[in-house]
Amino acid sequence: MRYESPTTAKAAVDLLSKEKGKAYVLAGGTDLLVRLRMDMIEPDLMVDIKNIPAMNDIKKTPNGGFKIGAAVSGAKLGANKAISKAWPGVVEATNLIGSDQIQGRCTMVGNLCNASPAADSVPAMIAAGAKANIVGKKRRTVPVEDIVTGPGKTALAKGELIEAITLPKKAPKSGDAYLRFIPRTEMDIAVVGAAVSLTLKKGVVEKARVALGAVAATPLLVKEAADAIIGTSLDDEALEALGAACSAACKPIDDKRGTVEYRVKVAGVLAQRAAKIAYERAGGK
Ligand SMILES: Cc1cc2nc3c(=O)[nH]c(=O)nc-3n(C[C@H](O)[C@H](O)[C@H](O)COP(=O)(O)OP(=O)(O)OC[C@H]3O[C@@H](n4cnc5c(N)ncnc54)[C@H](O)[C@@H]3O)c2cc1C
Repeated sequence: MRYESPTTAKAAVDLLSKEKGKAYVLAGGTDLLVRLRMDMIEPDLMVDIKNIPAMNDIKKTPNGGFKIGAAVSGAKLGANKAISKAWPGVVEATNLIGSDQIQGRCTMVGNLCNASPAADSVPAMIAAGAKANIVGKKRRTVPVEDIVTGPGKTALAKGELIEAITLPKKAPKSGDAYLRFIPRTEMDIAVVGAAVSLTLKKGVVEKARVALGAVAATPLLVKEAADAIIGTSLDDEALEALGAACSAACKPIDDKRGTVEYRVKVAGVLAQRAAKIAYERAGGK
């Protein structure tokens, strides 16, 4: 296996596109190195992106959003006060990944590209309207909800990698939140994850995005759930409709962490709780 550590995105793209065997991008390695050690993968080439300066930066975008480089660790993201203030749900979701040791290495983009249906940061990014900036032969920008196409599968073509995630400008009177349910208090995989982002106008929900994790083959953007709370002040009836829409969208599996019925029920409850937190963060009472 060849290990390369380029210092530009262009060099990384060249290496990935020219390799005839199996090539992998290496970010924090907290998924990839585990799979390597378990003999689940046999790479011919690993392209480490941590020495690409632009991929280690968090920058404000000209329109007031944020560009988070693909090699930025969970710990570095959590230490950024401006993002934590604007998008607390995204930061909290990313900071739920693993332990302190994992936080020092893991990235949002690695979490996304590992393409686990239960990845914690992904529903929060989707709810926030995050976009993936892809580099390859051409540059393209893709909404995060379109990246994962199935368990372990992404929409990235050979020679493509994600350079950064962009988060939009936080609108006034808006808030986001992510909650997950795990059987233990930490270091476990989500049985269900739920993220809500919303914007208020005079206490009424004007815009909303609701996303779920671990309840289908891919993380889900649930439009019906957002529609259930838009135009309401998140009263009990709206919350009931939100929960029902989330439960209806689930297509989960039975496994040792939870049955289908359990996941369907918990998805509705967690989404309601996340919506209440997002509403309060947006200044709703
Ligand atoms: C002990 C432990 C606890 C964990 N706990 C959690 C948890 O609570 N919640 C959770 O969601 N996950 C958890 N994970 C899984 C893992 O830590 C996360 O998925 C993490 O975010 C992966 O990021 P990474 O940078 O380490 O990715 P890597 O391992 O470097 O890469 C993961 C995958 O993404 C690809 N990739 C990485 N960067 C790019 C890029 N820029 N462009 C294209 N492809 C790319 C890689 O080729 C690989 O296929 C845990 C893992 C461990 C070992």
